[in-house]
Amino acid sequence: MHSFGFDNTYARDLPGFYAAVQPAAVPAPRLLFLNEPLAIELGLDAAALRGADGAALFAGNVLPEDAQPIAQAYAGHQFGGFSPQLGDGRALLIGEVIDRAGRRRDIAFKGSGRTPFSRGGDGKAAIGPMLREVLIGEAMHALRIPTTRALAVAATGETVLREVALPGAVLTRVAASHLRVGTFQFFAARGDLDKLRQLADYTIARHDPALTGTPQQELGLLRAVAERQAKLIAQWMNVGFIHGVMNTDNMALSGETIDYGPCAFMEAYDPGTVFSSIDHGGRYAYANQPLIARWNLARFAETLLPLMASEDDEAAIQQAVAGAMEVIDAFPGLYAAALLQGQRAKLGLFAPAAADDPADAALADDWLTLLHAQSVDFTLAWRHLADGAAVAAGHEAPLQALFADTAPLRAWLARWRERCALDEVAGGPPAGERAARMRQASPLVIPRNHRVEEALNAAMHGDDLAPFERLLAAVRRPFDDDPALAPYAEPALPEVTAGFQTFCGT
Ligand code: AMP
Ligand code: MG
Repeated sequence: MHSFGFDNTYARDLPGFYAAVQPAAVPAPRLLFLNEPLAIELGLDAAALRGADGAALFAGNVLPEDAQPIAQAYAGHQFGGFSPQLGDGRALLIGEVIDRAGRRRDIAFKGSGRTPFSRGGDGKAAIGPMLREVLIGEAMHALRIPTTRALAVAATGETVLREVALPGAVLTRVAASHLRVGTFQFFAARGDLDKLRQLADYTIARHDPALTGTPQQELGLLRAVAERQAKLIAQWMNVGFIHGVMNTDNMALSGETIDYGPCAFMEAYDPGTVFSSIDHGGRYAYANQPLIARWNLARFAETLLPLMASEDDEAAIQQAVAGAMEVIDAFPGLYAAALLQGQRAKLGLFAPAAADDPADAALADDWLTLLHAQSVDFTLAWRHLADGAAVAAGHEAPLQALFADTAPLRAWLARWRERCALDEVAGGPPAGERAARMRQASPLVIPRNHRVEEALNAAMHGDDLAPFERLLAAVRRPFDDDPALAPYAEPALPEVTAGFQTFCGT
């Protein structure tokens, strides 16, 4: 297979951080999905990847000649408990490219067979969960939320044994990097300061090059990661996304959403929403996500402390701990500001204002309280609020139809319209333009759980990719004001959502 133009810094610069492993050969490669726009973005020859060569490549049978497949080492806190050795048990980084915009991107397989990190696992993946990662990842990307993306999914012709026998597949994933909080934890847990320092230097060079060589560069890295996570989680919260398994090995230092396992979008607004079948205590419930992000950042900070002060210098240790604590303690404020910035756009408030305007935060909170009290669909409520802003006098019938009792809604709308009028006086847009801009902040289409299940069932059990392709096309244009999208905007029946559970993609 022709070269991909790889430049493999991880394999080259970080020996001792991975195991070199070849993907397992599979019997019958068949390409189920190729992300042509992404292939072009990466500077790859999309046409050449479409045929049998692409199937053989993306199933792991024939690699580009410059590929250097490696399984990366990492550790991680899973549901609060520390595992000193996880690592790529079913994934392989095959190489890094510089994309057409000059950004370095990892290209990695998931489901390509066993590695030294597989523990009891088979190293494999099934078609359903891999196509699920395509749908959710592409939806997140279209929602302008930083995310890893799927480049391809190939069926392998193998059967994968889970609770039942499932058809196997390999996903090819593109990421700004696969550096995780857990990568640092792996070397910190072993007390390997040299490797920890090497890893910090590598991470800074890759994601925060401006910090290179600055005094306290590790503290700078911690701050940069915290800032990216604050923005990321705020974006999740503003579209109702629930990651489902925010273990420290699933938190990327790049600030991209990574590892789509039991994730799902909320339907009726309820901060306690949990979909994952394995999240018994609700540790990763919707409303807990910012708290967990902060907890994970504290674990990251702990790995950096030995680099910030030597262990025999008590004063330096005190100072390093104080610096790290300051960043961790600043996180809730950073998050709140990012959340409110997103909420202000969803509320149609565009005139410059103090970012932390408490009255606007209260307006948003009261709106969410209304949605919660009447179990209103989160996505449709925000979208119909945008539609309602189009006419100054209000076009509120679709919004009102979501509420059993409209009296509290009408009271809130009166307050909101007053606030919008003030916004216009302060330089915000007139009604029609306000609605258009609000629609750019509140999607019509999210990957609804029942739609995702329907698409995956047809692909897995009926060999029919048409529902998957239709749903993918819809989630790729979430903000469009197009009646053709209406079937994808409808919530599931409450009975369906009440019983809905997601399972880890293993
Ligand atoms: P995840 O929950 O997908 O983030 O995975 C957690 C850990 O389990 C990672 O170290 C994975 O590589 C590993 N893992 C998940 N599924 C498998 C599998 N089928 N075979 C081997 N390792 C796996
Ligand atoms: Mg993971």
